[in-house]
Amino acid sequence: MMELKIQLVPTGEIILPPGRNGESHCHNCSKAVGSEGVRVMMESALTARDRVGVQDFVLLENHTSEAAFIENLRKRFKENLIYTYIGSVLVSVNPYKELEIYTKQHMERYRGVNFYEVSPHIYAVSDNAYRSMRTERRDQCILISGESGAGKTEASKKILQYYAVTCPASDKVQTIKDRLLQSNPVLEAFGNAKTLRNDNSSRFGKYMDIQFDFKGAPVGGHILNYLLEKSRVVHQNHGERNFHIFYQLIEGGEEDLLRRLGLERNPQQYQYLVKGNCPKVSSINDRSDWKVVRKALTVIGFNDDEVEELLNIIASVLHLGNIQFGGEESGHAYIMADTQIKYLARLLGVDGSVLKEALVNKKIIAKGEELMSPLNLEQAAYARDALSKAVYGRTFSWLVNKINISLAFKDEVYPTSKSASVIGLLDIYGFEVFQHNSFEQFCINYCNEKLQQLFIELTLKSEQEEYESEGITWEPVQYFNNKIICDLVEEKFKGIISILDEECLRPGDASDITFLEKLEDTLGGHAHFVTHKLADGKTRKAMGREEFRLLHYAGEVNYNVTGFLDKNNDLLFRNLKEVMCQSENKILTHCFEREELTDKKRPETAVTQFKNSLAKLMEILMSKEPSYIRCIKPNDAKQAGRFDEVLIRHQVKYLGLMENLRVRRAGFAYRRRYETFLQRYKSLCPETWPNWQGRLADGVSTLVKHLGYKPEEYKLGRSKIFIRFPKTLFATEDALEV
Ligand code: ATP
Ligand code: MG
Repeated sequence: MMELKIQLVPTGEIILPPGRNGESHCHNCSKAVGSEGVRVMMESALTARDRVGVQDFVLLENHTSEAAFIENLRKRFKENLIYTYIGSVLVSVNPYKELEIYTKQHMERYRGVNFYEVSPHIYAVSDNAYRSMRTERRDQCILISGESGAGKTEASKKILQYYAVTCPASDKVQTIKDRLLQSNPVLEAFGNAKTLRNDNSSRFGKYMDIQFDFKGAPVGGHILNYLLEKSRVVHQNHGERNFHIFYQLIEGGEEDLLRRLGLERNPQQYQYLVKGNCPKVSSINDRSDWKVVRKALTVIGFNDDEVEELLNIIASVLHLGNIQFGGEESGHAYIMADTQIKYLARLLGVDGSVLKEALVNKKIIAKGEELMSPLNLEQAAYARDALSKAVYGRTFSWLVNKINISLAFKDEVYPTSKSASVIGLLDIYGFEVFQHNSFEQFCINYCNEKLQQLFIELTLKSEQEEYESEGITWEPVQYFNNKIICDLVEEKFKGIISILDEECLRPGDASDITFLEKLEDTLGGHAHFVTHKLADGKTRKAMGREEFRLLHYAGEVNYNVTGFLDKNNDLLFRNLKEVMCQSENKILTHCFEREELTDKKRPETAVTQFKNSLAKLMEILMSKEPSYIRCIKPNDAKQAGRFDEVLIRHQVKYLGLMENLRVRRAGFAYRRRYETFLQRYKSLCPETWPNWQGRLADGVSTLVKHLGYKPEEYKLGRSKIFIRFPKTLFATEDALEV
């Protein structure tokens, strides 16, 4: 019987040896396995491979079968092998437990090593992007996608840690590394919250550039933030919480700080914190998180005064939430007690009586004269909540800006040189389908359509470009181009966004329902748009009258139009704006600038702002070389070891993984640069061993002929060999092991 010399790591995964002379390492503990390696009989090796699945889906025998795909994921997940490739795309399944695979030794294992020589890992993707940036001088981006709780934010943190540990450093660089790392706890405190799906759910989209100097050291960073879920400030669904910072401050804030802020150490006291009936979360320690955040703020460069002003704002939102209105007989609202107003005046740095007036009256300008029109109970509550959302939302943007200033790249060696090379990390909300889908889901899913388009463009385009530049002919793959859905949403004049904006601008009787009617008039009959109205005038029973359905690339979603106009207008009454523009709080003077009051132009609606920022993001991403990480959530219970097949199948579908695999397989499963290929397999042919002296292409040609490759199995391009079937490469790898 034939004997195989391979490495079996403790998890049973087979690691391909780095070549005859290289040292072999254990995948999990990074220890050298020993020069003898592990000798096992052929059967046990195959059993192991059978047990742990393949580390690249491209190697699956039955690559068109979704069942085989999921079975491979399941096998690996059971063995704690959470990472698997589709070519160069990394698929990651959230283990919901700490794995010993992120140690410094692991980082060292992946540093400077070729993708295929080590088992799949997020560090391999990080290192690959870093090396491409360094050697090819091309900016990179790593796009992380997946649904809520799938592990996107954790993945982005692991990447950042990898660079912080493995990249060269000096004292100055260390400061930047620290700031880059410390920006995470701060942004998570203000932008993350406990939801039903994730105890630490990011409620904003984030794109972060890490800038590297010519030596490859991280020297700066820049963050772009997208669409913070402001509505959470004033309302949370059952079982969910407000943003972490509120609880951290209340639980962890020092006695005298809380006294200054007029806060009690009990979240139940605050209307804005009781809606979800969930003040404590077992996986979260607000008190120790407070310490982490407080320290992080200092590292980022906040002085004590700035921290105080920031916390004044956070406390003022809680006080605003506790303002109660009473109704007079006339229907006019009044403020029941002055307690909060006193605190608010001090914390916001505004005149209390003016604020009080502005909370129950609306200023209207009629015939050039200013009139105060009293608000009723409902309107006053609306105005108060709008103010809270505006204050919190704008403070969040200010915070991102402040972090950016602290991360700003200053090239002191070459002050005039353009800038550094960049690796961008995108951690943005995945496709969302809930029982009730509103404006926020509409924006999020639109964003995912745009990202899917980018994925299609870049994967197919780059694949095709590579064949072209290497002089290889290939069969183009059919795929669903979701441009039709992007157009449906964003096309000028007749897209959903245009129609929504039009209704928001229209004076008179515009409402959520008239918006829906306009959608029906303009888009009825569109292949991806459905409402309850059928073409023959009858009604579709399964749909509500306030709903429209979009047939997204990832599946159908019904959106309820209630609140669309309001959320898109994102209106703050003028007199509340005036009050805020007079604030003496230094942060708020940046958030509410006086020009806003004199500016005659109507501010952009929320959806248009989002659309424009997405367009800019697409431009940024298009100019970079992308790597992809597709995150999968294994179950809804946030539990380790549970693999819910139905849930996973759904994600495999909408992440487009089968399509991705098809594209990858349609052409050539593997491609390797000549030098890499030769280096790895030269020992298999007497003519190329120990060193090939001639042209690399000739060496590869000699080698593969010696190995018995058939002409239809491979093609030689300008700088790379393209291998059509994985089994060819597998056989070669096996030969190396014998
Ligand atoms: P959202 O869209 O809601 O922000 P997300 O995709 O960013 O979700 P994460 O917050 O990254 O999800 O992950 C959710 C939780 O899953 C983490 O708090 C952590 O407990 C666990 N988790 C994710 N990835 C890993 C990992 N690689 N190892 C261990 N636990 C993980
Ligand atoms: Mg997240």
